[in-house]
Amino acid sequence: MITDELLDAIRDFPVKREVEHCGDVHNVSPFDFYFDCPACGVKIKLRAFSGSPEIEDVFDAVLAWMHRAAEVQKCVR
Ligand SMILES: [Zn+2]
Repeated sequence: MITDELLDAIRDFPVKREVEHCGDVHNVSPFDFYFDCPACGVKIKLRAFSGSPEIEDVFDAVLAWMHRAAEVQKCVR
């Protein structure tokens, strides 16, 4: 079910995620599942692996479609 709330959430979706560790703030992709701290090497989980789809999953689906579309474009040309 597509709601106005979902569309707003997509419009407002951040283009980067800030992860703070070891006193530094790192900009990472909002789609990254993990962040590896370059200073201490610790792996931080960024995305929840919940059963219910999240906004990130909407983007994953759209990006997968765009990838397929780009492959078709390559064949057409
Ligand atoms: Zn660290």
